[in-house]
Amino acid sequence: MSGMIPLCDAETCVAAGCSPTVCTGAGVPSSQTLFERSCAAIPGGVNSSIRAFRSVGGEPYVVARADGASIIDIEGTTYLDLVQSYGAVILGHAHPAITAAVSTAASDGTSFGAPTPREMKLAEAIAERVPSCERVRLMNSGTEATSTAIRLARGVTGRDRIVTFAGNFHGATDALLVAGGSGIATLGLPGTAGVPNAAVAETMVAPYNVVPSLTDEVAAVIVEPVAANMGVVAPEPGFLQGLRAECDRVGALLIFDEVITGFRLASGGAQAKYGVVPDITCFGKVIGGGLPIGAVGGRADVMENLSPLGPVFHAGTLSGNPLATAAGLAALDQLTPDVYAELSMRAGHLAALMSDGCASAGFPARFPVVGTLVGIVCGAEAANPVRNFDDARTTDESAFAAFFRAMLAEGVAMAPGAYEAIFVGLAHVDSVIDQIGAAAARAAAVAVTMLDDS
Ligand SMILES: *Cc1c(COP(=O)(O)O)cnc(C)c1O
Repeated sequence: MSGMIPLCDAETCVAAGCSPTVCTGAGVPSSQTLFERSCAAIPGGVNSSIRAFRSVGGEPYVVARADGASIIDIEGTTYLDLVQSYGAVILGHAHPAITAAVSTAASDGTSFGAPTPREMKLAEAIAERVPSCERVRLMNSGTEATSTAIRLARGVTGRDRIVTFAGNFHGATDALLVAGGSGIATLGLPGTAGVPNAAVAETMVAPYNVVPSLTDEVAAVIVEPVAANMGVVAPEPGFLQGLRAECDRVGALLIFDEVITGFRLASGGAQAKYGVVPDITCFGKVIGGGLPIGAVGGRADVMENLSPLGPVFHAGTLSGNPLATAAGLAALDQLTPDVYAELSMRAGHLAALMSDGCASAGFPARFPVVGTLVGIVCGAEAANPVRNFDDARTTDESAFAAFFRAMLAEGVAMAPGAYEAIFVGLAHVDSVIDQIGAAAARAAAVAVTMLDDS
């Protein structure tokens, strides 16, 4: 072990005179040294590539702990957190209802390989709030949900073709990792090394917010009903309704990927907000209360094609995990309908403050709001509306990077990517929103000088 940087364990921390989890003093590693050590053990030092700071420069802060709206790195620096685990956390970090539910569940055992009451209750809780989900199958990630939904749709229809939209993100599912086409619907090309042409040979990519005309070869259309991975882009009036009608016309299934919007936009998700009923819905993020989870829900006659009832295989050692279902139930329990009205108000208020701060500093940025979700568009084209991926790509990534770094220096953590959403949760009370707004005004002034210098 000699020559290695000591990890932030109880012994080194106590020896250095600070708390075991929040290191502030000598003898404990900085975020930078710990991250360098991580890079020798983990490719790129991260377990999800979007966490790397590649597009914004610098290196990630290494988190010791978090509480409410705050996240504290191992050096003891506190940031007001707008990442909130990319939306998986909605009650705020280390919410007492979640930590109590998880510790109670853990003391009963962490995984069994047999049915449990909590997974039944979570499936019921989802079905109760999202009526299109007459049956719900729980699994471990949003990625697993989208890949299972695709397999299910193909199995049900006996067709192979999938239609997806440029700029929508459905996790690391081979069939959906297609290069974003622009213009008319095109056959997808692999969006990453390691995805064979064959895996995407039946995937078509269409522009968002235009209803593609389908043929009877199409098994399913999968869509983010509010696009939240290319900034935050609302569905134009008629888009989701049009998809529903076009799917019905050719006998294809409509899959809503509500991994972000589910239980974040409204109790009933985007499908309730826009009044369009999909055949299959994918969930993740919020339904696990910050623990690993995913779910596929849908009409009973569709869902009963899943094994063991039907021919479409699905299984998972940790599916319906006791800790994740306990945390998910605790989260849904707090998410009464009035919470969404409050979160929408806060989202609108935050966007207005950030927008004003940027405007008064002369930093070009816009903060589109869809319900509880806030996005950011930076640069000369920021004033133009964003309806699809081509529009979204006009955002100035280097302007975003400058703003991101200035915000971090002001003590506000955003997701390190120009296309990520800003996640407002229950911990972002008015005083926190005001602090973030003030930080944004100062950060925008700094970002302007950074851009001038480059
Ligand atoms: C995050 C996300 C996924 C993937 O979920 P994971 O749990 O990260 O696998 C899928 N779809 C959308 C819309 C997402 O935002």
